[in-house]
Amino acid sequence: THFGFETVRLAEKQAKVDDVFHKVANRYDLMNDLMSGGLHRAWKSALLTAINPPKDRTFHHLDVAGGTGDVAFAVLEAGGPLTDVTVLDINADMLRVGRERAEKRFPDDDRIRFVQGNAEELGLPDNHFDCYTIAFGIRNVPRIDKALAEAFRVLKRGGRFLCLEFSHVDVPLLDKIYETYSFRVIPPMGRMVTGEAEPYRYLVESIRKFPKPQAFAGMIEDAGFRRAKFTAMTGGVVALHSGWKL
Ligand code: SAM
Repeated sequence: THFGFETVRLAEKQAKVDDVFHKVANRYDLMNDLMSGGLHRAWKSALLTAINPPKDRTFHHLDVAGGTGDVAFAVLEAGGPLTDVTVLDINADMLRVGRERAEKRFPDDDRIRFVQGNAEELGLPDNHFDCYTIAFGIRNVPRIDKALAEAFRVLKRGGRFLCLEFSHVDVPLLDKIYETYSFRVIPPMGRMVTGEAEPYRYLVESIRKFPKPQAFAGMIEDAGFRRAKFTAMTGGVVALHSGWKL
């Protein structure tokens, strides 16, 4: 049936994504710095400003597709003793790197935990988290609508959804430069550092296929969130989307 075919196709997409991050896990942080020229730090810092974890109140934070822990660590640093962070990722290799980094930076800190899981089916309780983030992760998820529904389910009323993702450059000239960079620089650079170009071709393709920011904001509202909006950064290379569960 068509349904059966679709299910297989989506499973294949996830398997391909898992293979990519299995291959790059050990070099992931280095590649992030190289390929974004360090810009990913600025984008994540804008995300942290939006999260704005309180110092003096309970704050349950969930970082989905949390990979090697960057967002989680920033939340822990900015938050207080009543802040806790759950890092969820589908990939055991990425989580292993994250755990190792956490042990170095926050030894014996029980405010952080790592959970292997799927954004489409979190396996976490309803109405629990104050904030849900997903950074450079949602475009890898085969069923984005399911991930958004799960985000809505696990957030408290008054909780906030924040998503950082590659978007679409809409500045003349910069769009040409970005395209050349994506197709001619990223895959060879990937091959030089990790020995493989294919994961990076996949990365570039997945960025191109991701919905335009306005359309993605519409999907966030369709999941039940209110006041969905977005801010474009670096000429649209990245967008920060947000919404409230009210
Ligand atoms: N958030 C981190 C950051 O900004 O550096 C990591 C982003 S990395 C580009 C994408 C992550 O999404 C990978 O760690 C991958 O394993 C994870 N991922 C892919 N599909 C997922 C899914 N269905 N559920 C949860 N995580 C997923």
